[in-house]
Amino acid sequence: MYRTHHCGELRASHINQKVTLSGWVQKFRDKGFVAWVDLRDRYGITQLVFDADRTDKELMKSARNLGREFVVQVSGTVIERASKNPNIDTGDIEILVESLTLLNSAKVPPFTIEDDTDGGEELRMKYRYLDIRRNPVKNNLIFRHKVAQEVRNYLSSIEFIEVETPYLIKSTPEGARDFVVPSRMNEGQFYALPQSPQTFKQLLMVGGMDKYFQIVKCFRDEDLRADRQPEFTQIDCEMTFVEQEDILNTFEGLTKHLIKEINGVELSEFPRMTFDEAMKRYGNDKPDIRFGMEFGELNDVAQHKDFKVFNTADLVVGIAIPGGNSYSRKEIDKLIDWVKRPQIGALGMVYVRCNEDGTYKSSVDKFYDQNDLANWAEKTGANSGDLICVLSGQTSKVRAQLSALRMELAERLGLRNPKEFAPLWVTDFPLLEWDEDTQRYHAMHHPFTAPKPEDIKLLDTDPGAVKANAYDLVLNGNEIGGGSIRIHDKETQALMFNHLGFTEEEAKAQFGFLMNAFEYGAPPHGGIAFGLDRLVAILGGQETIRDFIAFPKNNSGRDVMIDAPAPIANDQLDELGLKTK
Ligand code: ASP
Repeated sequence: MYRTHHCGELRASHINQKVTLSGWVQKFRDKGFVAWVDLRDRYGITQLVFDADRTDKELMKSARNLGREFVVQVSGTVIERASKNPNIDTGDIEILVESLTLLNSAKVPPFTIEDDTDGGEELRMKYRYLDIRRNPVKNNLIFRHKVAQEVRNYLSSIEFIEVETPYLIKSTPEGARDFVVPSRMNEGQFYALPQSPQTFKQLLMVGGMDKYFQIVKCFRDEDLRADRQPEFTQIDCEMTFVEQEDILNTFEGLTKHLIKEINGVELSEFPRMTFDEAMKRYGNDKPDIRFGMEFGELNDVAQHKDFKVFNTADLVVGIAIPGGNSYSRKEIDKLIDWVKRPQIGALGMVYVRCNEDGTYKSSVDKFYDQNDLANWAEKTGANSGDLICVLSGQTSKVRAQLSALRMELAERLGLRNPKEFAPLWVTDFPLLEWDEDTQRYHAMHHPFTAPKPEDIKLLDTDPGAVKANAYDLVLNGNEIGGGSIRIHDKETQALMFNHLGFTEEEAKAQFGFLMNAFEYGAPPHGGIAFGLDRLVAILGGQETIRDFIAFPKNNSGRDVMIDAPAPIANDQLDELGLKTK
């Protein structure tokens, strides 16, 4: 038997017991007549003691030969510690070692296995198995397990069934490129890895499963943005005989349950906002509502004076920075430079200082008087002591720019408290989105999303105005889930494909299976999917999802530990019919 207890288990109540422990050598301290080893496993650290009076010479010698991260088994007696360590659970006791077996030696690790390590990101990823021995990473994985388990508990308790769907499938359009897998047995043909189980979960509804969920890997071959992974995990869900309201209530329940069980925070009813309202008030479809700084649209009060820049803009819009009047001229100039960086792309920024005495001082005083500026202050909700920042230009661009500024300032002002949870449902998303590159409309969510029935008539005349029964759940400025009520009849689905530029044949070739299924009594249905990696990171009060994934890929989509992707041998290419002549 390798062990009677684990390294986090022994307490004062075990004193005098004979025990056996196995684990890794975290630390060795030698005072000559006495030596200590910190023995570590997943559960904690137990101190081992060897002393010249009570330990035989040979054993003392073997202890001195131990190195960091050696794997050992020890047997001995639990004794009371002379100097207790209140910082660890086992701090009242130590083990007077009577026998020691070396189970395996270890090379000196390339970085220290400590909470604060000296290892850089790339090195830690290369030796991720060593990184996982560190508390911060280990605890994150345990945390993730807890979240996943609570998801399963909650959904199972309300009669959801977890069903596995295949990974080797045909393309599911979720807006990204597919990863493809060549088929050896069908030369020249390829499977696609699912971008999501979307069509399968809909088919499970046609199959009468009623309530489905799955904690499932999805694969999207996208240009990697910061903190995205080419493979990621979704909590994928679908329900039958539901309207949007049913879905929102069910998954508001799940989210509340998680935040209560995991964070001990009880949330009241989640606020809701339409997509249009979110764009108008925050310039963003996933607004962080933990803080204010709402947009004030200024067209009415800033246009038709002599300031040309504003007169020619689609939208003039500002936010008030609390306490921003204290910024020096230099600091404001820096802010202006910040919005003009290519990543943000504003052409400039107008600002108004709201002085303590109720007067205003702006960068455009030549064009606007105190009355005008008072109007701006009212529209942006600025108080004396604030700074109003105003951008102008093409509506969607200027909204994105001001939203970026709002988030940046909130970060700088410490308004994004990770202990606070501010959920928000965003509803009534547009069905279609204009794509400049392809000069075509794309499904904003995916092609299976149902248009609002009253808007179907607009599909021909004003496709951009058609709203969908689609919703996102936003938490602290992050989209943590999104879904929709689906189309469940063949005609509407065919109409959608047609509007997305598929010919009838193309639609049939790619999605014939779904359209066929819709002819066999498809029930009304809808669903949602949560991004588990991001959800776990937010509940854990952290920003990077990589810290919550056991073996993540780096920013170029590589696994630096196993060194993938990698070329494959010619024979293998040959077998797959992929060999280039
Ligand atoms: N399949 C969708 C997605 O991955 C979610 C859904 O509509 O349920 O975003």
